[in-house]
Amino acid sequence: MSYDNNNIFARILRGEIPCDKVYEDAHLLAFRDIHPLAKVHVLLIPKGAYVSLEDFSARASEAEIVAFHRAIPKITAELGIALSGYRAIANTGTDSHQEVPHYHLHLLGGQRLGPLLSMSA
Ligand code: AMP
Repeated sequence: MSYDNNNIFARILRGEIPCDKVYEDAHLLAFRDIHPLAKVHVLLIPKGAYVSLEDFSARASEAEIVAFHRAIPKITAELGIALSGYRAIANTGTDSHQEVPHYHLHLLGGQRLGPLLSMSA
């Protein structure tokens, strides 16, 4: 899948749409999900143009990948969920119901989340 420069997260990165930012550095941005599914629901995105986790893992530089993962404990500490625990989800492609075609990692926490999946779909 080719990258769509007008997807909503690309527009947030360009400053065309506001976001509730919780962390930013040279390689990534983290902001609160506009429709939170838990008391804490933050999206972590790379600044580079990657469609999905699959794309990011295949094409991102080592510096981008390291920066992305090293930021996670900083963000979870800031959010107060590092010790209580959280769920990290990266919907990837059609079967996962990925809606925004720019790689994003959901960080969900601040409450007991229950089992991973409902298999009723
Ligand atoms: P996914 O289904 O994994 O692609 O998740 C996309 C997420 O982006 C959803 O949880 C949306 O609520 C969230 N979202 C969409 N637009 C915005 C926005 N402008 N600011 C923050 N979160 C957004």
